[in-house]
Amino acid sequence: MYRDTVAEVDLNAIKANVERIRQTLPSGVKLMAVVKADGYGHGGAEAAVMAEQAGADLLSVAYLDEALKLRAKGIALPILILTPIHPAEVMFALEHDLMVTVTSADWFRQMAPYRHPSSKIKLRVHVKVDTGLGRIGLRTKEEWDELAPWLAGDDVEVDGFYTHFATAGRPDTGFLERQYAAFLEMKAWSRASGIEAKHYHCAGSAAALRFPGLAMDMVRIGAAMYGFYPEALVRTVRLQPAMTLRSCLIQVKRLRKGECLGYDNSYVAEEDEWIGTVPIGYADGWHQSLRGSEMLVEGVRVPVVGKICMDQLMVRLPQQCEPGTEVVLIGSQGDERITFSELAAFLGSVPQEISTSLSGRVERIYRH
Ligand SMILES: *Cc1c(COP(=O)(O)O)cnc(C)c1O
Repeated sequence: MYRDTVAEVDLNAIKANVERIRQTLPSGVKLMAVVKADGYGHGGAEAAVMAEQAGADLLSVAYLDEALKLRAKGIALPILILTPIHPAEVMFALEHDLMVTVTSADWFRQMAPYRHPSSKIKLRVHVKVDTGLGRIGLRTKEEWDELAPWLAGDDVEVDGFYTHFATAGRPDTGFLERQYAAFLEMKAWSRASGIEAKHYHCAGSAAALRFPGLAMDMVRIGAAMYGFYPEALVRTVRLQPAMTLRSCLIQVKRLRKGECLGYDNSYVAEEDEWIGTVPIGYADGWHQSLRGSEMLVEGVRVPVVGKICMDQLMVRLPQQCEPGTEVVLIGSQGDERITFSELAAFLGSVPQEISTSLSGRVERIYRH
């Protein structure tokens, strides 16, 4: 509350993004809003409410704790947990109406003793198959044949059957096509075993926006709902960035040519220079590797100089500025704009790594 550095989240932007993405989908396709990692750093419950208002059919998170937090905040939409939960925690899923990801017969075997025999509620599951990302999911027909009998039980409902692409944001589509073909083959295994999932799904933001034909029964939209574009997308859908990160100069000083600043004397003034101090550092998630990136002060780009400290960093100013002058780290000022994508390119990363890195010390302020 008392800090100069704040992240403003435009909730209308999230809502508008979900609405626009919805409009691009073939009719009848459901939209799952992915609000894991606290809504990609934007606020999990806040993003969930906006997604629901925009017509999202269900939500997903990565972990059980994230799902329980949403339920505690009164979020009522169906929620899928994308990472398998511990079998011993199955009762949480049943009690809070959470759908779980399953990948093996072993999970069911280990879960069985923890499931209350009196619980008549069906466990709703989404089967995850690995078609090439190599992360989570069953890969072979043998694994499927072992799992299928567990899915056929009347205490289980197979709400979904899904996979995740490794290269959906890349220009070259060869690997994606192979993954899709593998998914269709695995889908056929499920049908051959008499297991008809309610929703077959494979597309995240990038695949859903680039190839609406891959939507199947449902798409899982994360990055795009926060305004992040997949790398190789022709921008036919207009997405609005939802987060702006602002701070201000808390001190301005003159550095003489040859004087240094920062830990380890990491920067030496090349001439007489004006230097401003900005109260954000690596403890806020503004990594040291962002040294050399730019921020906006009085409508111009200024570089971060010297090593980024835990709580502050320094920028080189073109001229003297008053302490209190606004600094925009992400967003626009005057005619200039700095985007998550720009910073991600600087880091060799993705926008969502930056937004999810912003620590809890950076307050999120919500605008409607
Ligand atoms: C995070 C995640 C998504 C969302 O991906 P985006 O590219 O952010 O839309 C979809 N599916 C799974 C399995 C995920 O883990």
